[in-house]
Amino acid sequence: MSIFSKKFFHDEAAAFAKLESIVWPDGPTCPHCGNAGKIYELKGVRSKPSKKNPEGVERHGLKKCAECRKQFTVRVGTVFESSHVPLHKWLQAAYLMASSKKGVSAHQMHRALEVTYKTAWFMAHRLREAMRSGALDPFGGEGKVVEMDETYFGTIDNPSTHKVTGGEFKGSRLGRGPSNKRAVISLVERGGQVRSFHVPKATRAGVEKIVAENVDKESRLHTDESQLYNKTKQKGLVADHETVRHSADEYVRGDVYSNSVENYFSVFKRGMRGVYQHCAEKHLHRYLAEYDFRYNLRSGLGVNDMERTDAVLTGISGKRLTYQTAD
Ligand SMILES: [Zn+2]
Repeated sequence: MSIFSKKFFHDEAAAFAKLESIVWPDGPTCPHCGNAGKIYELKGVRSKPSKKNPEGVERHGLKKCAECRKQFTVRVGTVFESSHVPLHKWLQAAYLMASSKKGVSAHQMHRALEVTYKTAWFMAHRLREAMRSGALDPFGGEGKVVEMDETYFGTIDNPSTHKVTGGEFKGSRLGRGPSNKRAVISLVERGGQVRSFHVPKATRAGVEKIVAENVDKESRLHTDESQLYNKTKQKGLVADHETVRHSADEYVRGDVYSNSVENYFSVFKRGMRGVYQHCAEKHLHRYLAEYDFRYNLRSGLGVNDMERTDAVLTGISGKRLTYQTAD
């Protein structure tokens, strides 16, 4: 036996039963009219005959609403809607992405699931959308520590000819330096959750806006000595702001450090370099959502791979994507 012996990973009817138990823990709800009352199970319905399947294929999980008389399955209104990929392969994909700390490339998914590369790419992006949390509750609180840091990853789409300091880049230096890198800012509540942001540029104003919107004012903020953060206490955004001086080789002073957020960046960067390699800037926030998701449900918090997979499946509702191109 292995995790892949589970029936819902290879049997379509079992896959539907598994997903229905997650999306509808209290029984089916009609996605067309919201009726959660009388709903008929339509058994033995087959799709229209095609060249590939002259007798049609069985339509698993098909239901009919007694109120609006419309038909639906659990896939309607989720990121799995309008996909021809069998549901059991979606569950395999969700497991792969939920259980691989640094992510799974579309190439690997294409080979493992035996779908085209393009299909695998779309599946991965839909699953990233399912992982997006949208949580808005503030981090920290009285006496609690929130770590914050910025990192730069990959070059921006329209490189600047000027440095952050204003001077012009010369020759081969063009496109180097932080002004031409994609900036990522992350918050980690000590021992808890992460929340990451792709910003056009890491600026003091941008950092302060993120703190104001995402950190409880009673929190202690821990950062390195970067100038970006040094007005946060003065402006009343946090109760205290303490720094470690990396330039002076100081990484921990008492309980002051930013190691949690740096560890998060380390996994993110190793994954982006080793697994994803190419990522269009417009999609960076989706990859951040993926890394945030896994960090927030990490094994260190007692979450196992299957529970993390179930959490991906919990997030599929109400998020439909219609990508036109795979790039
Ligand atoms: Zn209905």
